[in-house]
Amino acid sequence: MTTKADFYDGRGRSAVWLGSLQGDADPETVRAVACGRLVLEATDPFTYADAVIDLLDVWADDDLGHGYHPRDGWPWPWPDSRDTDWVFTFDHGRVWITTGRAWLPARTPVERWNAQNETAERKDPMTEDSEQSSHKTVFDLLEARQRCPDCDIAIGEEHVDGCDVARCLINGGQQLSCEADHDCGLDVWSGWWPGTLFSELNPGEG
Ligand SMILES: [Zn+2]
Ligand SMILES: [Zn+2]
Repeated sequence: MTTKADFYDGRGRSAVWLGSLQGDADPETVRAVACGRLVLEATDPFTYADAVIDLLDVWADDDLGHGYHPRDGWPWPWPDSRDTDWVFTFDHGRVWITTGRAWLPARTPVERWNAQNETAERKDPMTEDSEQSSHKTVFDLLEARQRCPDCDIAIGEEHVDGCDVARCLINGGQQLSCEADHDCGLDVWSGWWPGTLFSELNPGEG
């Protein structure tokens, strides 16, 4: 079964779409590719963006599927990443991954998308449409909440002991109510509510 991934820089209304993958585009497979690993472990947005561009080409070269650059147009039949399996974005010095639910529910991205594409009607990813290349496509990726609503730590910081937002890193449940006999690990505030974030992404050697 193939999965899809979209790559962004930033969150909120100005999140910039950097490209997409089709294939087995889950984080584990992405990490197995050298430049994919670079994408996931980048600590500055420039390294991240460069690695994404490399990954889009390497992905096809290695027969892992298709890589789509923004210059070729939005590749999916849906207008944003709502139905994309994996969403990768760079924010606050690291990469965050969600499963495509990190979208503002109240907005109407379809209309925004149609407006943006009025000049380039019915864009088929298979047809080359040359001039409008350098145009960066901006999306409405769910805004990060700067501080944990319970313990008030900032994005990327570990929750304070007893915070009811913190997740158990072993089983994904709420840490406060975890009764298992293990060390639950130190969960960090992602800027997104637990459940929107793919929590497996803890950098560090496995
Ligand atoms: Zn907290
Ligand atoms: Zn636990």
